[in-house]
Amino acid sequence: MVPTLDYIRQKFHEFNHLYFQDKLAPIPIKLSNTKSYVGNISFKRRRKFFGQWEYYDFTMRINTRIALSEQELEDTILHEMIHYYLYANQLQDKTPHGPHFRQMMQYFNDTYGRHITISHKGAKVEWKQDENSKPKKHIFAILTHKSGRKYVKVVPRIRSRVLYFHNSMFKSGEIIEIKWYYSTDPYFNRFPSSVSMRVYEFEEAEMLPRIKEAQPLYCDGKNVIVTR
Ligand SMILES: [Zn+2]
Repeated sequence: MVPTLDYIRQKFHEFNHLYFQDKLAPIPIKLSNTKSYVGNISFKRRRKFFGQWEYYDFTMRINTRIALSEQELEDTILHEMIHYYLYANQLQDKTPHGPHFRQMMQYFNDTYGRHITISHKGAKVEWKQDENSKPKKHIFAILTHKSGRKYVKVVPRIRSRVLYFHNSMFKSGEIIEIKWYYSTDPYFNRFPSSVSMRVYEFEEAEMLPRIKEAQPLYCDGKNVIVTR
């Protein structure tokens, strides 16, 4: 089945009550169409004293690209809820599925007959259960060539490099528009990060939802500013 937001919210509520003693605060839930994970918990973090991190602003994403069985879907939601519980209580492991995660997963599987797994054993091998391992940060540009064709470019996250690329692309006379974004979507891992003139074509259908989720940056050739 392909989940709806209502379905996921209802399951979140139900599992929170059954398995987490209603300790989890509600979080935004989004549907995702990415090729890189089945479920995902994203968050912000800030440094606390003594090198500890505090995690906050959680969002759960569940993929709608592939149809899972109801049980797989439930276990995927639970898998993400375990991540959320661990982060929210500062119990996160050094690796995404370390001892704390495994212990809770095992407990739910043994006690409640769940089938939570660490990797999704679905149709495609490259499907990861999620990308909760340190999200990589990307700055990318969507470039419009004078022919109307669009390209993507990932550049190093250094202000001077962004400005250098921005200005040299316009100087080339080939590019009529450059829009800048910031994203932690693992989709962008596939593009080499550089300031070379080499730019890449992309599938519009794959890119548009990612642009929508990315954070727009403003660049005028002299400054790069976060706009929201
Ligand atoms: Zn996971």
